Order: sequence, then C-alpha cells, then structure tokens
Amino acid sequence: PSLSKPSPRESHKAKLDPVAEYEKERKSSQKQCLNMVVIGHVDAGKSTLMGHLLFKMGQVNQKTMHKYEQESKKVGKQSFAFAWVLDETGEERTRGITMDVGLSKFETKTKSVTLLDAPGHKDFIPNMITGASQADVALLVVDATRGEFETGFESGGQTREHALLARSLGVLQMGVVVNKLDNEGWSKQRFEEISHKISAFLTKHVGLRDADVVYIPCSGLTGENLISPPTNDALKSWYSGPCLVDVIEKFRPPERPVSKPLRLSVTDVFKGVSSLVNVSGKVECGFVQAGERLLIMPQAEQCILKAVACENASSGMTAFAGDQVVASLAGIEAQNVSLGSVLCEPQCPVPVATRFVARLVVFGIEIPITRGFPVIFHQNSMSEQAMVVKLIASVHRSTGEILKNKPRCLLKNSSALVVLEVARPICIELYKDVKELGRFTLRCSGATIAAGMITEIL
Ligand code: GDP
Repeated sequence: PSLSKPSPRESHKAKLDPVAEYEKERKSSQKQCLNMVVIGHVDAGKSTLMGHLLFKMGQVNQKTMHKYEQESKKVGKQSFAFAWVLDETGEERTRGITMDVGLSKFETKTKSVTLLDAPGHKDFIPNMITGASQADVALLVVDATRGEFETGFESGGQTREHALLARSLGVLQMGVVVNKLDNEGWSKQRFEEISHKISAFLTKHVGLRDADVVYIPCSGLTGENLISPPTNDALKSWYSGPCLVDVIEKFRPPERPVSKPLRLSVTDVFKGVSSLVNVSGKVECGFVQAGERLLIMPQAEQCILKAVACENASSGMTAFAGDQVVASLAGIEAQNVSLGSVLCEPQCPVPVATRFVARLVVFGIEIPITRGFPVIFHQNSMSEQAMVVKLIASVHRSTGEILKNKPRCLLKNSSALVVLEVARPICIELYKDVKELGRFTLRCSGATIAAGMITEIL
C-alpha cells in the first residue's frame, strides 16, 4: 500500500488538536505521572527507605508487613523487613510483569509515581539502562553516618557516578535524601555539612540548578520525615522544611510532547488474541488512536492499530506522549516487529540510521576509548553492537566548549564529540527533537562506560 494515502481514520485525526484532546481526556481527571529513579551508594538505605515509604503510603498491607517482620526476625535481620517489600517487586519483575509492577507504584494527592528501579538490586547500572533512561526525576539517597557518607561520596563510591548518570540521561530535578540521620542524633550541623558538599558537586560538576534540588533529612528505618512532619524532638527543634512526600508532590511533571509526530517505541512483543500481535512500549511523543494505520520502523512494515491500552488511563482508545501502553496490531507477523522498533505515522517516519554524531559523557573507565573501540549501544530497552569510528573533539563537560580537536583517546570522566556506527539500522532522533530517542548509553565488558546524546544523523 502507498505510504502517502491516509486512511479515513487518519484524516479524522488530522483535524484534531493534540493538546486540546489531551486536556479533554486527561488533564482534569488524571493525576500527573512521574517516573522516579532512586539512586545512591550500596547500603545508603535505598530499599529500606522506599519499602517504608510504600508501606506508609498504603501499598503494602499490614498482614504482609507483619509476615516480613516475623520472617526477618527469624533470620536475625529485623532491620531488613522494609527492604523485603522491594525484593518482592524484584521477583515479580523477573517473572516478566513489566506493565503493572503494583508494589512499586504509589499515589500522592496529585501524582501517580512509578519507581523505575527496584532499589533492592545491588547492581544498579544495568537496571538503569532499561529503567532510568525514562526517569523524570531522581531521589539521591546518602548515608549520613560518620564515615559512611565520606566512603559513598569520595573515592570509589557510587554517589557521584549515579548522579552524573542520571543527569546524562535527562534528569533535571533531584531530591537528596540525607538518610540515617538518626545515627547522628539528628544533628543539624551534620545535615548542613552533607548538604553543602553535595550541593557543590551537583551544581559544579553535574550541572543541576540549585533551585531544582531539595535536601531532606530522613530515616528510612524509623520512618521519620517520610510522609508527615517530624515527630522527633531533636529534628523538630531545627527543621521545618518539607517531608519526603511533599518533595515528590512538588516535582514538576515533565512536559508531554503531544503535538510532535508519533513515536511509540517497542519494549516487548507477545502474541495477542487470534492473529493480532501485541506490543508493549512507550509513546515517546505525539498521540495515537485505535483504528490508525501505522508504520513500523526500521522494518518499514505497515499495520493497523486495533486497540491501545494505557497503564495509567482508565479510558483507552487514545494514548498520549508519556503513556506506557500495550498496543494490539493487525496485518503483520510477530517477526516483523522487535524490541527497539518504533511505530510512527506513515506520513512522518522516524529517521533510521547506522552512523551518527554524538556527544559522550565518559564515566570512570580503566581503558581509554580510542578509534575503533567496540561497544554495545543501549537505547531504552534496545541494544546493538556498535563502534566508535571517529573522535571529533574533546569538549568541556558542562559547557560543551571544544577543548581539543581530533584527540587520540578519551580518558575517564571526560566529554567528547564522536561518530558512532551501529551494526544494523536503528531508529534514532536528535536529542534536541526527541530526547527519549536521542539519548543512549554505551557498555563494554559488562560495564557502562559512557552516556550520550545524538547531535547529528549522518
Ligand atoms: P540499599 O543497599 O541502599 O538498598 O540499603 P538497605 O536499605 O539494604 O540498607 C542497608 C543497611 O542500612 C541495612 O542494615 C538497614 O537496616 C540500614 N538502614 C537503612 N536505613 C536506615 C536508617 O534510616 N537508619 C539506620 N540507622 N539504619 C538504616
């Protein structure tokens, strides 16, 4: 079929104003969706904090919590009871429940929050690639205990790398949880000391604005300052700021680019009823309605969208930018759509390419990156073999100003413009057009070595 001839449904859609449609269907009735990633050094107390928060927000019933308490007592790890709340989620995830991870979602007055990473997982980095590249905001958890904060923040700790990674993947707002302050007698001085050190790092090296970062004294273990103002006298005597949930409540939800052309990226493919093929994925931009004819890239196959179900909307024949969806497709075979495929409107196909220019942020690597360096390219949940084929220039990490043309190699913690080549054609966009399809991470021998943004398609 011709690519340019619109179906009757499409000409109907062409008359719609995406923003007005979105407002009509969602704005009034719906809570704002927020994807939040929880980051920080191992043992900072991420699992305990989030488990306790979910419990307090009513996501875990008393009976289950009691069971965890009994079980953890039995194995002599009473303090782990809350962390187990999240481990359960971890199990559910490995069983493949990707659409509705019940336990790691919670609602505040105005927001529906999805926790993107099961913080119980010790190895955070691989999870980040599928999860946190979709994060809108981050909670950075640090252990306030004397000596522990220093270990996590200074040499070898993960605090800095996680913060840099989150920022490279598009996170612009952050809550810094100064956790375990119970261990420090709720000392104001300790809280301020830590806040100042982190603030200097986040503004100077990570590139976050001070106004977009909030510092919260907490204890994930005792539950102090999680969902209500402090009750502890020592903390009450000097702190009158927001509790953790207030901070989450005040995060600005990301803008939903509903007026841009449709890009629905596929994260899973499974068999639907009769001959339908079901895909799950995320509408990165634009909007889509059941009945539309769509183009699958890079396969260049056409299909009809029979139905679309949104995770976060009760009514569902239309899905908008930001929605996680399951779409039922007719007129194609399952082998013609894959992880990393992008569904778009036939009149406005997503760019497909194998070579592009990108700005890289290099992490703490051991071996410098040179020309011809083989890597695995990760974008959302897609991965592909790739190679750094050209080092154009090394650039300043925060300003982007060129420091040296044609460098011989890229050292750890540097930033550079490079040409990348992937083994097979993939769907990409410039970062400035569609962030979600314009950013990626690079891995090598099981480690994340860089994050990047696509600046030019060759
Ligand atoms: P994660 O690796 O960041 O997920 O950390 P965990 O949640 O597993 O916690 C690591 C250890 O710190 C456990 O022994 C917890 O009981 C302890 N812990 C966590 N939160 C607190 C807290 O707020 N205060 C104190 N004193 N200990 C905590």
